[in-house]
Amino acid sequence: MAFFQSDCIILKTYDLADADRIVVFFSRDHGVVRGVAHGVKRLKSKFGSALEQFTESRISFSHKENVELATVQGAELLRSSFSVAGDLNLVNELARMANILVEFSPPHSPDEKLYRMTAACFDAIMDDPSGYRSVGVYFDQWILKLAGFLPNWENCSKCRRQVAARAGLHINGSFESICDVCRPMPGVWELRASAVELISSVRTQSPRSFSANASENTEDVATLADIYGRMLDRLTGKGSLSLSG
Ligand SMILES: [Zn+2]
Repeated sequence: MAFFQSDCIILKTYDLADADRIVVFFSRDHGVVRGVAHGVKRLKSKFGSALEQFTESRISFSHKENVELATVQGAELLRSSFSVAGDLNLVNELARMANILVEFSPPHSPDEKLYRMTAACFDAIMDDPSGYRSVGVYFDQWILKLAGFLPNWENCSKCRRQVAARAGLHINGSFESICDVCRPMPGVWELRASAVELISSVRTQSPRSFSANASENTEDVATLADIYGRMLDRLTGKGSLSLSG
């Protein structure tokens, strides 16, 4: 039996019999872990609200080799998710991001960069809920980038010439960029120059400043959310990772 302690973001919880619950958490040091929290549903549980979905907590857990589920021993709240509890849009967006993490982060594979990016995105949404859509776009672009699936849209996929991004981009249904000379295929997205700027600003900005910059630009945010959501759906074979509504 090995004992661990790590900062964690609670991604999902499932009720079990009695007062127990399965908690799926994304830990800084061990990646995605599934564990049982005994007695968590009791009124005076030792876990308090530290295992509520979307909170960030320092979790101690034990894990036996060859056993699927870890056992959560203790949890100390670092950041509550109380502020999003009543807002269905925020809950849906955070749940969408949690599903993407489970899809893209293999169990027990630590990824410090992914952890910091995710924690910063969750913080940004909880601090300024109005920017949740742009934070979602920021998150999706980083996920695609870290997983090696973010296309290079600077060259036309047909003639290979560099696309003048300042004039905007055409993206076809296979998520490739097509220049003005090669005619865009049906089902194309038009990325205005301002959307192309948003894409490059993800690389240098925090989710908070990205969201502040994108706040006036709902049209480009919606286009990018649509493209990235469909890319994630296509990659995972699921139809549930794009932002609804
Ligand atoms: Zn071309």
